Amino acid sequence: MDCLFCKIIAGEIPSDKVYEDEQVLAFRDIAPKAPVHVLFIPKTHLAGARDVTADNAAVVAHIFTVIPQVAAQLGVTDYRIITNNGASAGQSVDHLHFHLLGGRTLGEMG
Ligand code: AMP
Repeated sequence: MDCLFCKIIAGEIPSDKVYEDEQVLAFRDIAPKAPVHVLFIPKTHLAGARDVTADNAAVVAHIFTVIPQVAAQLGVTDYRIITNNGASAGQSVDHLHFHLLGGRTLGEMG
């Protein structure tokens, strides 16, 4: 499968990892929008939030337990979690990912 984030998981493309376990990988966004900008991705390929079902949602719950741990490690207490879903919503990589943004005052959602 020609998926950028699957290649990062496989180690074929380097990334600046901040957390990894058997289910999730977290790495710094290559074009950060905030001082802390980390992407959390499931190691199993899901194209996006539309593909989350009762059968595979456990990994999403797991990611939401990892995010606060990583945020604390990186020294942010206030932060935003974003998932763009679909091209017109800003999704540019078709592998489910959660943006963690923090380290500055964040403006209104647009
Ligand atoms: P989205 O636009 O919501 O699909 O988010 C995809 C994110 O992946 C963007 O913020 C990109 O800057 C980021 N990105 C693309 N390629 C890489 C890469 N090789 N390493 C880290 N982040 C990347």
